[in-house]
Amino acid sequence: MAEQVDIVVLGAGMCGLGAAASLAEKGRGVVVLEKSRGVGGRLAGRRFAGAAFDMGPQYITGRGLAFSARVQAWRSQGRLVPWFHGGPAREDGDLMVWTGLPAMTALAKDMAQGLDVRLEHKAQALRPTGLGWTVEVEGREAFLARAVVCTAPLPQSLALLDAGGVSLDAPVRGRLEAVRYASCLVVMARLAGPSQVPPPGLVEPVEGPLLRVVDNVQKGLSASPAVTLQATPEFSAAWLDGNRHEAARLMLEAARPLLGTEVLEWQLHAWRHSQPENPLHDLHVEPSTCPPLLLAGDAFAGARVEDALRSGIATARRLDEVLDLAP
Ligand SMILES: Cc1cc2nc3c(=O)[nH]c(=O)nc-3n(C[C@H](O)[C@H](O)[C@H](O)COP(=O)(O)OP(=O)(O)OC[C@H]3O[C@@H](n4cnc5c(N)ncnc54)[C@H](O)[C@@H]3O)c2cc1C
Repeated sequence: MAEQVDIVVLGAGMCGLGAAASLAEKGRGVVVLEKSRGVGGRLAGRRFAGAAFDMGPQYITGRGLAFSARVQAWRSQGRLVPWFHGGPAREDGDLMVWTGLPAMTALAKDMAQGLDVRLEHKAQALRPTGLGWTVEVEGREAFLARAVVCTAPLPQSLALLDAGGVSLDAPVRGRLEAVRYASCLVVMARLAGPSQVPPPGLVEPVEGPLLRVVDNVQKGLSASPAVTLQATPEFSAAWLDGNRHEAARLMLEAARPLLGTEVLEWQLHAWRHSQPENPLHDLHVEPSTCPPLLLAGDAFAGARVEDALRSGIATARRLDEVLDLAP
C-alpha cells in the first residue's frame, strides 16, 4: 500500500533539508526521502581508528546576509566554531572561515531536527499520477505525494524522471543537461604523529594533484593525527574511473612534505558530483506545475553549502505559492 503524503522532498542534503524545514514551518506536511544512512548529503564525515574526517566541504563562509545570520545562530547553538580569518589572497576574501562542531555534518543534523526524514529510502522513479506523483522507492512501498521537490545532483534527478516516463521540454532538458559537475577524489589518512601542515591547518597548493590539504587536529576535528587530501578537478576526472589505489598513492606522495610522518592507513572516497562547474542562475526549475515538481540544489544557485540552502528555501517559497493556487 502506497503511503499518502502532502509533499515529498528527495534528498536530505542542505538543499532538501532547507526546503523541508521551510515547508514544515508553513504548516505543510513533508516527508524527506534519503537514500543514505545519514543526513547531510555532501556534508559527510567518516571516522576510523580514532581519526575523524570531513569528506566533503571542509568549511563554510557566510557571504549573504541570510546565511551569515544562520551561521551566527549555529555558532550560538555550538554547531559551528571559527577556524580562521580569511584574507585578501583567498577566493572568499576576508571572511571568517567556519567549521562544524564536532564535524560539518552537525549543520545538517541541526536542520533535520523535527523533520520526518526516512533514511535508506532510495527513490527509483517519479511518475505523475492524476493530481500528484508516485515516488517509487527501491525495495519499499511507494509514496503518493501532491508535490515533489527533487534535490539530487541533476544527472540523478533526470534519471528519476526518465525512469517514470516524464518527458521535459527540450529547452529545459538541454539547460539541465548542460550543467557539468567537477569530481573530487578525497584521501583520508591517519598519521603516526603530528603533520607538518602549517597553522591554521589548511594548505591549498597552487600546482600538482592536490587542491587542499587539511590537518584535522588543528581544525579541531580529530583527536588523533589525521589529514584530508582533496584532489584537483583535473586530477580527479583523470583518475575517477581508473586505478584509485594508484591515484591515492600519487596524492599521498604529493602531500609528503606536508605530512612529515608515516601514514598508518588511508581510505579514499570518490565524489562523482562534487560541485557544479557552471551552475544555472535560477534558484530552481519547475518542469511541471500540475502536479507540482521542482528541481533544486546547488546546481541552481552556486557551488556551495550556502547556495544549496538558498535554493532549498526559495523552492519551498515557490511550492507554497503553487499549492495555495492549486485546486
Ligand atoms: C569534496 C567537496 C568539497 C566541497 N567544498 C565546499 C566548500 O569548501 N564550501 C562549500 O560551501 N561547499 C563545498 N562543497 C559543495 C557543497 O557540499 C554542496 O554545494 C552542497 O552540500 C550541496 O547540497 P545539496 O543539498 O544541493 O546536494 P547533496 O548534498 O548532494 O544532497 C542531495 C541528497 O540527495 C540524496 N539522493 C540522491 N539521489 C537520491 C535518490 N534517488 N533517493 C533518495 N535520495 C537521493 C543524496 O544521498 C544526498 O543526500 C564541496 C563538496 C564536495 C563534495
